[in-house]
Parts: sequence; C-alpha cells; structure tokens
Amino acid sequence: MLRAVLVFLVIVLLGANLALYRYCRAVTPTTAAATPAPPVASVAAAAPSSIAASSAPEKAKPTNVPIAVTPTTTASFVADDNVALLIPVQGVAAVQLQDTFSQARAQGRVHEAIDIMAPRGTPVIAVADGTVEKLFTSVPGGLTIYQFEPGGRYAYYYAHLDRYADGLSEKTRIRRGEVIGYVGSTGNADPSAPHLHFAIFELGPEKQWWKGTAINPYPVLRGDQ
Ligand SMILES: [Zn+2]
Repeated sequence: MLRAVLVFLVIVLLGANLALYRYCRAVTPTTAAATPAPPVASVAAAAPSSIAASSAPEKAKPTNVPIAVTPTTTASFVADDNVALLIPVQGVAAVQLQDTFSQARAQGRVHEAIDIMAPRGTPVIAVADGTVEKLFTSVPGGLTIYQFEPGGRYAYYYAHLDRYADGLSEKTRIRRGEVIGYVGSTGNADPSAPHLHFAIFELGPEKQWWKGTAINPYPVLRGDQ
C-alpha cells in the first residue's frame, strides 16, 4: 500500500515538472522576440508615429505608462519661410481638391493622404524647395518620392508615379515647382483612375524617411492652414 502511494506521488511530481518545463519554454521565446522592424514599405503604414514607435526595437516600456500619441488631426503645419506649398499636380486648382485624409483603407488603415486625380502623364511638381531623400518602389505606393524640406522638419511623399522626371536622383536638391515625376497608377492604384497620392509627415528626431506623423495636406494645399 505504502509503495503504491509513493509511486503515485512520484508520477504526480514528474507530471508537474514536465508541465512547468513546457510552460517555461513556451514563455521564454516571446520575451526575447524584440527584433528590429524593417523599413516600412508603404506610406500608410509609415504614417502614424504611434505604430512606428511600437514596432521599434526599443527597451520594453512599463505597461502602466500610457504611450503619448499625438492625434494627427491636431498636428499643425508651418511652411519654410511661410512660403505656401504648391499643389503637386500641374493644372489642378485648389477648389478641385477633395479631403480624403480620414478615409478608411484596406486592413483597417486610414488613408492619411490626399488623392489628386489627373490623366496619366500629367507632370507632378515639387510642392516646395527641398531634397530628394529617397526614391522608393513599394507594393502599395508603386514608384514613390520622399522629399525632405530644407528645415528637416517635414517630408513630402508622392506615390503611384508613372515615372520619375529624367535625371531625378536621391540626395539632390529640387526647387519648388520643378517637375519631379508624372501621374500614374503604379502600386495598388486602380489603373483606370490614375492619381497622385500625396502625404505630409512631420519627421521624428531621427529624420527617417519611413517614420513620421501624418498631417492632413488638404487644408495646407488649400491655403486654409
Ligand atoms: Zn491615396
């Protein structure tokens, strides 16, 4: 009888050990899984700084401290030297613009940009002086340009381009009004509705072209802000 009880206890203890071992193995990998996030390939994903911050390989934040999120609708825009931005598609007037900044997009994203409809091949012009920071091809954006303004505070993003202007290259200066590309439908744009997808980001302190806080271009391009 005593022997049977001892055997039973040994079996119970072994079982408990095994369960504990499995539990520890299951927990360990998740705590060590903080891998650096690759550069985001789409503007929509790059837009909210809260998302970018949460995917960055930073030290773990205490869970009881709320992460500060700047609502994109209150981010304000102050142009360099108070020179108004140009509308980035040649021949389009301010009254033709439509505010699609807050529209929903695929996978629960928000547009955080403005779409300016125009025939394929219409010249796309730089909204301000600046530098071509990055020429990037992404699945959603197609052929894109990331421009930094001279103050380094904002980035301007032009997407779905049919092609770049001849000779356009990274780290070169461009002037306000200069033709930098042509309207198209590359990326996930509907081929039957070519348009320029244009966005403004306030850059973070690291000045990374894929990371920033979206600002609604609509009131900025209309001259309302
Ligand atoms: Zn768009």
